[in-house]
Amino acid sequence: MTDDPSAPAPESAGPAEAAEPELAPYLIEEARSSRSRCRTCRKKIEKGKLRLGIVLEGPYGSGYIWHHLNCAAKRRLEDVEAAYAQPAFDEGLKVPSIEKLRGLQEKAEKERAERKELPYVEKAPTGRSKCKHCGEGIEQDSFRVVLGREVEFGSQVRTGPINVHAKCVVDELDAEDCATEVEGFAEALHAHSGLDAATVDAALVEIGPLD
Ligand SMILES: [Zn+2]
Ligand SMILES: [Zn+2]
Repeated sequence: MTDDPSAPAPESAGPAEAAEPELAPYLIEEARSSRSRCRTCRKKIEKGKLRLGIVLEGPYGSGYIWHHLNCAAKRRLEDVEAAYAQPAFDEGLKVPSIEKLRGLQEKAEKERAERKELPYVEKAPTGRSKCKHCGEGIEQDSFRVVLGREVEFGSQVRTGPINVHAKCVVDELDAEDCATEVEGFAEALHAHSGLDAATVDAALVEIGPLD
C-alpha cells in the first residue's frame, strides 16, 4: 500500500469522469454477463441472475459493487429494503417479494445463531456420543465439551468440532492437532455455550485446572 491510495484525483482527471452519468445508489437487474462476482459469497454471478448493485464512490468515479440479490437479503437486508423502496429496478423486471427476502434473512439469522462457536459445553442429550480423546462413551446429561481439532481435507487444514469428556479436556488441549487454545478458554466457554454462568462454572470445575 502507498501512503494515501484514497487521495482524490485532481478535478481534471481524465475525460471518463465528466462523461459518466451519476449512478443511482442502488440497482437491481439481471446480470448482463457472468463476469461479476458476489461480494457476499464470493462466487460468480451467472448471466441472467438477479443482482443488487450498491454504488461505491471511488477517487476515479463511481461504480457498482455487486451481490446476488438473495445473498444481499441474507447479509444486508437494509440495503435490499432501501433498493425496493426506490424502487431500484425496471417495472418489467420479475423480482421476489420483499416479504420473501425478509424470510430468507430470518432463516439465515437463525442458522447463524445455531452454528455455535468453539469451544462450548453442553449436557449430552443422549448417551450415544463418544469422547474423541479417550474413546469411551459420554453419559447422557453429563458435560460434553466441544473443542476444535485440525483435520486435513486434501491439502487444506480445517477445524472441525470434536466431543470430549470434561475430564479429558486438559489432555486434549495439549494435543498437537487441538485447535482450541488454553488462553481465554474459560471466557470462551462462558461466551459460546448459551448456558447460565453457574452451569458453565460447574463444567469448568469438572474440567479442572487448565495449566
Ligand atoms: Zn452470492
Ligand atoms: Zn474422554
